[in-house]
Amino acid sequence: MSEPKPCFSLEVFPPRNTDDSRKIYEVLEDLSHLQPDFINVTYGAGGSKNSDKTLEIVSLIQNHYHIKAIVHLPCIHKSQEEVLDFLDSCTKIGVKDILALRGDKVENAPVSKDFTYASDLVRFIESHKAFKFEIYGACYPEKHSQALDWVSDMKALKIKVDAGVSRLFTQLFLDNDDFYAFKEKCALVGINVPIHAGIMPIINVAQARKITAMCGSKIPPKFERILQKYADKPKMMCEAGTAYAVDQIVDLLTRGVDGIHLYVLNNASVARKIYESIHCLLGRSS
Ligand code: FAD
Repeated sequence: MSEPKPCFSLEVFPPRNTDDSRKIYEVLEDLSHLQPDFINVTYGAGGSKNSDKTLEIVSLIQNHYHIKAIVHLPCIHKSQEEVLDFLDSCTKIGVKDILALRGDKVENAPVSKDFTYASDLVRFIESHKAFKFEIYGACYPEKHSQALDWVSDMKALKIKVDAGVSRLFTQLFLDNDDFYAFKEKCALVGINVPIHAGIMPIINVAQARKITAMCGSKIPPKFERILQKYADKPKMMCEAGTAYAVDQIVDLLTRGVDGIHLYVLNNASVARKIYESIHCLLGRSS
């Protein structure tokens, strides 16, 4: 019997300015050729202003490229009414898959009275059965940066999964051993849903420092040496960062990972380079 094909997915974010708005259409066109099982689209926790852009991109992916789209929904600044409106808009454009998130507090925005944690949102969506959404959640192989300790973080994750999450997507990590240790913790607390490994090709030094600090992810010595050696050589840094991501993915695939989720940061050429290195391993045709 042949082994099941590992899942391969991509994540994009809505453009922040008019120039990027034009570019995102080219990016999506390029990404659509990489045979992803689905494409996730992020949504800033800050409010409703960017929801239109998120939904426009999600609709394009789903209805023009006929690729499944997963839309992110952070709830920390949302009321139940706003969530219902958003779910209604998703239903109208045919989107059935939601990554339910708490999000991070945005300065000066009023905090939701209705939702404290992502699990509150999962329960709320689940209670509206008429919508028929598949719900996913986020997880953190190095522990969520605000969690007091591993015990409380794993208990919280178990609550979220039991509320109705069918798959988890990890935050980026640069040391696969953190992911394998995290999978063991999940098994210990009885979390048995598929876990998709979030891999981010880090192609410049400033980006590496900023993103890892923001996520609370550590930079292992092997990657630190890359940053040191190629700090002033952008082309080499890009090549080394891309190769590092490929190396992580190959290792994960040999260990039977449920899915590879590529944080492409709207950089289609890096996504293509990675895809070209691994498409056979993913069971894709060339
Ligand atoms: P939660 O699952 O609610 O966890 C948040 C914290 O609360 C953790 O420390 C947890 O241990 C604790 N906690 C949870 N439940 C309980 C409980 N019942 N009792 C006690 N403590 C609890 N942000 C965006 O704004 N937009 C995006 O599109 C976006 N996409 C993301 C995609 C992925 C794959 C990931 C990994 C993150 C994404 N984020 C996004 C960032 C995310 O919103 C932040 O990491 C946020 O800080 C946590 O969100 P969460 O849904 O994981 O929160």
